[in-house]
Amino acid sequence: MPIEEVFIGIGSNLTNPVSIVQDAIVCLGKITSSKLINCSSLYQSEPVSDIVQDDYVNAVVAIETSLQPTFLLLELQAIEHAFYRQRDPSLKAAPRTLDLDIVLYANRIIDDSHLTIPHPEMHNRLFVLKPLFEIAGEIYIPGLGSLSYLIDNAPAIDMHIISEPVILASGPGVVPG
Ligand code: AMP
Repeated sequence: MPIEEVFIGIGSNLTNPVSIVQDAIVCLGKITSSKLINCSSLYQSEPVSDIVQDDYVNAVVAIETSLQPTFLLLELQAIEHAFYRQRDPSLKAAPRTLDLDIVLYANRIIDDSHLTIPHPEMHNRLFVLKPLFEIAGEIYIPGLGSLSYLIDNAPAIDMHIISEPVILASGPGVVPG
């Protein structure tokens, strides 16, 4: 099976989001048939929402994987679910502890009932575009244009780097071939 490069967006704004994002990156490094190859800094960003809530911590990682997109999405949802179960029970009405999105899957364009790639909101989200630029540099986003063009045209938000990239701890995940 071909090995593809995939970029995954990470976001959290509940109960110690820095350590949640760091722990999530470790989990992403252990996805079957995959290897963590790069990781952005952690960014703090203001919420893009009418609901008053804490700032988010965001990052983007790159993996190499031989999982097809649907199977990768299931792996991401299993990680989200593991963190969801750990959330503070007093925060019942709050958003999920952890959000994982497939931002890009190689150069593929996918638009079906459960999966849209490139991620349909990426062009509106500087908290995705900036960390993506940090690890991918100037790339072409299928159907959308250059990454620097998207950054220049995305709605402005307050965001800044709060920590260096997490040490790459890839774990036992192996890309066959
Ligand atoms: P969200 O609430 O933003 O985490 O959205 C979760 C839903 O979005 C899931 O049911 C996915 O099937 C769907 N989805 C569509 N495209 C993507 C994508 N590129 N990455 C992650 N989830 C996606």
